[in-house]
Amino acid sequence: MLDVNGTREAHLQAFQQAPALFSAPGRVNIIGEHTDYAEGFVMPAAIDFETIAAISPRTDGQVVIASQNFNETVTHSLQQLPEKARHHWSDYPLGVLWALREKGIDVPAFSLTLKGDVPLGAGLSSSASVEVATISALLSLTGKEIPLPEMAQLCRRAENVYVGASTGIMDQFIACCGKENHALLLDCRSLDYKLAPIPANIAIVISNTMVKHSHAGGEYNTRRAEVEEGTRILHAHRPEIKFLRDATVDDLAKWGSEMPPDVLKRTRHVITEDDRTVAAAAALEAGDLKTLGRLMYEAHASYRDDFEGSCPEADILVDLASKEAGVIGARLTGGGFGGCTVNLVEEAHATTFIENLRKGYHAATGISADIYRCHASDGVHRIAE
Ligand code: ADP
Ligand code: MG
Repeated sequence: MLDVNGTREAHLQAFQQAPALFSAPGRVNIIGEHTDYAEGFVMPAAIDFETIAAISPRTDGQVVIASQNFNETVTHSLQQLPEKARHHWSDYPLGVLWALREKGIDVPAFSLTLKGDVPLGAGLSSSASVEVATISALLSLTGKEIPLPEMAQLCRRAENVYVGASTGIMDQFIACCGKENHALLLDCRSLDYKLAPIPANIAIVISNTMVKHSHAGGEYNTRRAEVEEGTRILHAHRPEIKFLRDATVDDLAKWGSEMPPDVLKRTRHVITEDDRTVAAAAALEAGDLKTLGRLMYEAHASYRDDFEGSCPEADILVDLASKEAGVIGARLTGGGFGGCTVNLVEEAHATTFIENLRKGYHAATGISADIYRCHASDGVHRIAE
């Protein structure tokens, strides 16, 4: 749990103004990997790691942003904001300010303090939690309200265009619209969504491989290019296929032979993952945890073998989990090549599960994993005074 009062006090000390505080969560994706940018389906849950944004107005025309995590403060004149990202943590809040201005929403001068406990770069989306906490804080100074899905889209734009990271809509959307004790099935095309309750006796356990393979960025771009190539080949036969969301396994059976082997595998992952995600949401809604678990294992196998986005450490964690009592399902979550696995575990077995997983992973890799027992949580909200 974050020390909200500590952040409030630090803000007050630094800026002599009592702040308004906003919180936005990180997230774990239960199923639906690399489907969001194919306009398909994802099923994340917001988790009880968060970023807090403390904000107060200024009268000197300055924008002052502090991160307690980085122990650093940046200052810019509102009239002369950096037009481009500088590969610095402040790109994220400045990108949100940029996206609001681009939308015609003027934000007055402000002091902003950020503090988060979402592990950075672990695939639990600390970046979206920063963006969404920031946008709520900034909007509070303008007196304007915009609907949550639109806030998510502005934050995505900040990350895609200003920061320069090509992500889908999932992270920002769940940080906006998550609900306690629920997973959220999101249609990344229409942004329609459906909440499905996570049974009270199920724990969400997230295990961090503690690795992020250095080739991740390059591989990610290669995968995106391969998915686009697969889409183009199918589109040539069936023009209504604009994204893989529009394609089926039958299309793949008919025209997959025209694809280079790797393109076929990536395309197959995305098309089958979409089907698995919709089926997983139906299973969760129906309380059919056995099917949900099977789909999670199948999703991991597809991520590993077809998308080739896993890594040995994540495969070890999933394999160890699958042998433990009370485990419903496990898979690598997030962008791939490292990061975290998500495990759904019966509460009664969770403590033993965590101990065994930690020991087994250390024995196999020599790495001490961080393991978090999480709770599906609400999306962005204002913190009461
Ligand atoms: P992920 O979203 O998976 O955690 P990203 O690389 O997308 O990883 O985003 C991590 C980046 O977000 C950090 O390197 C930092 O620039 C920014 N960030 C996250 N949390 C904070 C924070 N509390 N304060 C400032 N910047 C943060
Ligand atoms: Mg991110």
